[in-house]
Amino acid sequence: MELFDCRGLLDALGGPPREPRGHFGGVPMDLTMPGPYSGQWKVPQTRTEELLQDWSGALGADVRRGWEVRELAQEDGFVEVTADTPDGVRRLRAAYVVACDGEDSTVRRLTGAAFPGTPAGRELLRADIAGIDIPNRRFERREHGLAIAARMPGGVTRVMVHAFGRPARRRTGPPDFAEVVDVWRQVTGEDLGDGRPVWLNAFGDANRQLEHYRHGRVLFAGDAAHRQMPSGGQALNLGLQDAANLGWKLAAVVCGRASKGLLDTYHDERHEVGRRVLANIRAQGLLLLGGPEVEAARTLLGELIAAGTARDHLAAMITGLDIRYPVGGGTHPLLGARLPLGTLPTPNGPVRTAELLRDGRGLLLVSDSARAELRWLGKVWSDRVTPVAVRPDTAEPLYGAEGLLVRPDGHVAWAGTDPWGATAAIRHWFGRPDPGL
Ligand SMILES: Cc1cc2nc3c(=O)[nH]c(=O)nc-3n(C[C@H](O)[C@H](O)[C@H](O)COP(=O)(O)OP(=O)(O)OC[C@H]3O[C@@H](n4cnc5c(N)ncnc54)[C@H](O)[C@@H]3O)c2cc1C
Repeated sequence: MELFDCRGLLDALGGPPREPRGHFGGVPMDLTMPGPYSGQWKVPQTRTEELLQDWSGALGADVRRGWEVRELAQEDGFVEVTADTPDGVRRLRAAYVVACDGEDSTVRRLTGAAFPGTPAGRELLRADIAGIDIPNRRFERREHGLAIAARMPGGVTRVMVHAFGRPARRRTGPPDFAEVVDVWRQVTGEDLGDGRPVWLNAFGDANRQLEHYRHGRVLFAGDAAHRQMPSGGQALNLGLQDAANLGWKLAAVVCGRASKGLLDTYHDERHEVGRRVLANIRAQGLLLLGGPEVEAARTLLGELIAAGTARDHLAAMITGLDIRYPVGGGTHPLLGARLPLGTLPTPNGPVRTAELLRDGRGLLLVSDSARAELRWLGKVWSDRVTPVAVRPDTAEPLYGAEGLLVRPDGHVAWAGTDPWGATAAIRHWFGRPDPGL
């Protein structure tokens, strides 16, 4: 939600329902955190995709539906992709390819990229069913398994079920309705057989991550880079954050103004975040799909969550609000973190930080009281960084610093008072200044 606000996309979502309740491996917990968008916001993925397609199209992106990548070759200075298209086989050349082709990524296979991890050992069956009348259930643990049911608008009920000890099946498609009916009966004793399945699906606890997110001129993002059980809305968030981290770096490289090594920070930053999320999802899988043997651990975790500190830690992790990229440059608490969304006092009146980031440029927020050299930096890099003067109207509007350098993805890259430190940081993240400026 923060990323969408920073790109001006929230209004188009029209105020989706917010759910502050979350869970860790099925153990209930509140996800409320400081900031405007904590909790889970229920947006159908089709709506998110439609919104991003319209937005990228308006910005000039050429989205080609019905093109299927079949081959890929990396040459000196470019990548050639061969695709089956509605008009026959086509070849495209590009300086870089970003593979966002999902958990069964063709590009991953074609590049031979190592994708270590564990296959699915257990799975949840999932179905949207019309014409049934059963009680709603939120992570109900029963003697023989886990049952979840939620009546949705329109009279369809979504059920998810796992029978304890039942291994994941090798699948090439969705489960049969009969299988869902059978497992639901084993777990709850209820018969769903008279219902009409609208959608069937199964997902397991496979957990894999690419060793490297960059393979020469091919970069990986989203489920193509990491495969995980979709727990707590973290899967889609991870992919969106990958894209937000990579997009501006790749643009800087393609436009010839990136510093050496900028593109490699994509792997360095996002691989570590992915590793940590995959670890928490593995832990959640044990607690969620484990049988009676995990009850004691679940009870203890519930007590820790109720005590507070563990809840704060887990909520920050699940919502991704605790991400700190290793940007170096000191000990300021905001270094590497997202700039907290709020309002800054400027000579032109209060301005929302999310609005300042809308055009995808960096920000140099400089206090009125800062040394002149700091303000001068904003002028020198003004073709890629927006300088913003901040008045000291409120207590510490810049969190104790005289200046903050914010990357286009909203993460703080430098915080301090020293213009030399600021110069090194701005060069590192935004390249050399244009000699014409
Ligand atoms: C049942 C289920 C429930 C889920 N629930 C949630 C949830 O509640 N919250 C959450 O955060 N996540 C959830 N997820 C996970 C979430 O859907 C994924 O993490 C997300 O879709 C990953 O996005 P992506 O863009 O990386 O890949 P995908 O959404 O898989 O998109 C990949 C795209 O690449 C295209 N493609 C594939 N191969 C080729 C090729 N060879 N050539 C050209 N194009 C190709 C595909 O057609 C597709 O358009 C759920 C997943 C499942 C299965």
